[in-house]
Amino acid sequence: MCIKKSVTRTCSYCECVKVDDGINLGKILIYRDSINNVILFDDKYYHKDCFLEMCNKKIEKRKLQKWILAIENIKLYEIAAQTAIKEHFNKDDVYRWMLESYTLTVIPSQTWKKINRIYAGEIDGMSIGIPPEHLYDMWKRKINYLNKIWNNNKTKGKEMDGAQKLNYDLTVLVNQYDSYLSWLNKQKILEAEENTIHTNILQNVDLQKMSKQNNNNKNSNNENMDDLLNELFD
Ligand SMILES: [Zn+2]
Repeated sequence: MCIKKSVTRTCSYCECVKVDDGINLGKILIYRDSINNVILFDDKYYHKDCFLEMCNKKIEKRKLQKWILAIENIKLYEIAAQTAIKEHFNKDDVYRWMLESYTLTVIPSQTWKKINRIYAGEIDGMSIGIPPEHLYDMWKRKINYLNKIWNNNKTKGKEMDGAQKLNYDLTVLVNQYDSYLSWLNKQKILEAEENTIHTNILQNVDLQKMSKQNNNNKNSNNENMDDLLNELFD
């Protein structure tokens, strides 16, 4: 599947404050694999440099606590931007996956509503929302299983077109989310165990190296002592 690699946002500072030099002023180009130096503050995006400039100008005029704190907590607003942009990319992955896997050119508006309710955890029987990242991962892992159900239904005379299958599959996925979460937790435990084993092996290797070095030191100490004694008794 072809994925979206970049996205643009508008910088609320340089868009209106700086003099327009005609070169994409106010545009923040953000790449999927390096979401850095972007700020999300009060629902507005900024270049990091622009945000600092804006805060400092406001502080110069009147030392308002709001802007002093904004600079102090800038890391938090950088994380807020990263989280929002990552979510945008994850939602886009889900969108492209749906178009491609269900051979659709548009997603029906009813399905969009359903997807948003799934993200928010508002479907009957849901205790929590499914983040786009989880939905996409689960969907890819379950697609063969979903196709099998679709085939079974077909042989029983229950035909479904792309949009109907999409709707049906979403219901199945929502019902499977609890077991996906248990599976995911198990993977995390296994991964942590593997890391512990790996660390233990490395520590053993280090210990072996250290004892070897100690032996070498002892040997060279002995040799030095031998030399000294030899010199004394020569
Ligand atoms: Zn800017």
